[in-house]
Amino acid sequence: MIKPWSDKLRKVDPYVPGEQSKKQNIIKLNANENPYPPSPKVVEAIHNFDTDKLCLYPNSSAYQLTEALAQHYGLDMNQVFVGNGSDEVIALAYMAYFNSPDKPILFPDITYSFYPVWCNFFKTPYLTKAVDENFRINAKDYYEKNGGVIIPNPNAPTGMSEGREFIEEILQHNQDVVVIIDEAYVDFGSYSAVELLKKYENLVIVHTFSKSRSLAGMRIGVALGNPELISLLNAVKNCYNSYTLDSVAIAAGTASVNDDTYFLSTLNKVIETRERTAKELSDLGFKVFPSHSNFLFVTHPTISAKELFEAAKAENIFIRFFDLPRINNHLRISIGTDAQMDALIGFIKKYQGR
Ligand code: PMP
Repeated sequence: MIKPWSDKLRKVDPYVPGEQSKKQNIIKLNANENPYPPSPKVVEAIHNFDTDKLCLYPNSSAYQLTEALAQHYGLDMNQVFVGNGSDEVIALAYMAYFNSPDKPILFPDITYSFYPVWCNFFKTPYLTKAVDENFRINAKDYYEKNGGVIIPNPNAPTGMSEGREFIEEILQHNQDVVVIIDEAYVDFGSYSAVELLKKYENLVIVHTFSKSRSLAGMRIGVALGNPELISLLNAVKNCYNSYTLDSVAIAAGTASVNDDTYFLSTLNKVIETRERTAKELSDLGFKVFPSHSNFLFVTHPTISAKELFEAAKAENIFIRFFDLPRINNHLRISIGTDAQMDALIGFIKKYQGR
């Protein structure tokens, strides 16, 4: 029955994250999480957390974490913003920076599928620019007048990255709008534009603790930019919720930033496993796109991606299939531990009847 108030409800078309199964003992390679636990320093910070302090609100600008990050990146504290995961940071950035009612923001057609969801939700006009047949982004597509640009580097779900020249070309042709470079996967081997913050006042870089820092469950995201843009992000945040990061997350995040040794050692493990798995998949006939992230994007000339995805799931191996134009015969496979990747390769060999 149609309720009398139903026409007042908002109609939304939400983002669909990688499935979080309730099943135990699955091999979870579908959400680009890190297979390794967070730094022992993070564990210690959580164990030693003074729970009496939970009766107090956290510091609204997460001072301790912002300071640690500023030191880590060689920036001033007023160039750093933190939020509840980079999804929240990007949503706030849309609200703060993408406000042109008649000029669309631009992003690639094959990219993080949350970007168009935010556009629809915030009523931000947008245009997508087709990546080429090898899924590479063409900087020249971003020369036209627009209301802002958002590009992930490395791109998702392709995993491929671009260098300094590409980012500078985008920035030079878009000096009158804010350019967001979403570097969610940057630590796994791609070029980071942090050095360009000195040169371009309209650049905002977004990072996350969910991938390289093994803290997806803690929800910590970061924006880096010039003080004016960062201060606006804080103002927008304070228009809807002043305390987006809780006290435990602030303590855990700070401990993570202060443990470079562990950070680098897990990164290296993931990168080594990625390279080995890429070779193995390519030996099994897959086309493997060159990845600078913690996942591989693959397709096979004779195996249906959807059927392989479903068969793997039946064996409790979760990988990601996107039923989207241009990529509906491709799979995105997160890099797990060596043992998890061996299980995946073993499964594929069996599936191929080898
Ligand atoms: N950007 C990209 C490109 C991503 O793939 C993700 C992960 N889904 C995010 C941002 C958001 O990550 P989080 O909210 O966990 O920081």
